[in-house]
Amino acid sequence: MTFTVLVTDRVSDEGLTPLHDDDRFTIETIHDSASDEFEATLTSAAGLIVRSATKVDAEMMAMAPDLEVIGRAGVGIDNIDLASASKRGIAVFNAPGGNTNAASELTMALILALARRLPEADRSIREGRWDRASFKGIELKGRTLGLVGAGRIGGEVARRCKVFGMEVLVYDPYLPQERAEQLGVRLVSLEHVIENADVISCHVPLTDETRGLIDAPLLGRMKDRVLVVNASRGGVIDEEALAQALHEGTIAGAALDVYETEPLSPESPLRNAPNLVLTPHLGASTEEAQVGVATEVAGYIRAALGEGDVSAAVNAADLQ
Ligand code: NAD
Repeated sequence: MTFTVLVTDRVSDEGLTPLHDDDRFTIETIHDSASDEFEATLTSAAGLIVRSATKVDAEMMAMAPDLEVIGRAGVGIDNIDLASASKRGIAVFNAPGGNTNAASELTMALILALARRLPEADRSIREGRWDRASFKGIELKGRTLGLVGAGRIGGEVARRCKVFGMEVLVYDPYLPQERAEQLGVRLVSLEHVIENADVISCHVPLTDETRGLIDAPLLGRMKDRVLVVNASRGGVIDEEALAQALHEGTIAGAALDVYETEPLSPESPLRNAPNLVLTPHLGASTEEAQVGVATEVAGYIRAALGEGDVSAAVNAADLQ
């Protein structure tokens, strides 16, 4: 039996090696999912692999009577109608681990950029200055990192910061003590992280519990010289409260890769806040991560179509 897998949104072809190397699969790559060619191929596709650009809704699934699996080469599955997929018995896979390294390295870049004030120093030179006195930084060695969430990415950030000589405190109510011991971090309360960390970095999903978790009162309880980083999901830190804390100088600096609304509105108070480094959701934007997420999802699709193994599906519980 052979399966046609339709691939769109410029998913890394190199990452699809698990499917290319298996005779049971025919890959059809059509970059434009709005094209007639895409629609025509969809009618015979058993698998569909997308990134975030293609909206896979009930209407699209209705055009694909043979569709059994959908793969999202990345983490977020907001562009896939999960309820409709489950109703049709279509297994949906994402690639939660393929960009862990990329996101943890971006977090390190943001922490170091803040600690050594790199964006401002760069700007000052371009403005014609040679101002060494204004850019005295701080060292990470001997300081305390406070993590809010220490799963895949938080765990990798912990490892890296320990190599820099930092002590690591973690607030993560779902992290087993055993994993904390493996990572060499101390599990503490949120308040303890907030009041004792020199650098605070968030690595949690956006849930009802984490939305607005870092709010004005918590920002007010942080150390004066604290650096705050969020490369997880927008909305975990209250953006207005953060901009205000930066304007008032009650915290020393912050760096954000993710926002409550993306793209960030031109009117956002963050755009004028001082001591703030902003990047446009670049956490997974490396060559390696794009290959990594495609490989991860291709492996799941091969197992699902070839072996009937849907245990890694996001909606596995709803497929029985
Ligand atoms: P993960 O599921 O491995 O880890 C999340 C951790 O958060 C878990 O340990 C969990 O126990 C913890 N957690 C859940 N609720 C919590 C709460 N209320 N308080 C404290 N901790 C809580 O996820 P991950 O792969 O490490 O990803 C972390 C975040 O980074 C996710 O939001 C993901 O979407 C985001 N991400 C962003 C980018 C980017 O481009 N910036 C790239 C990859 C991932």
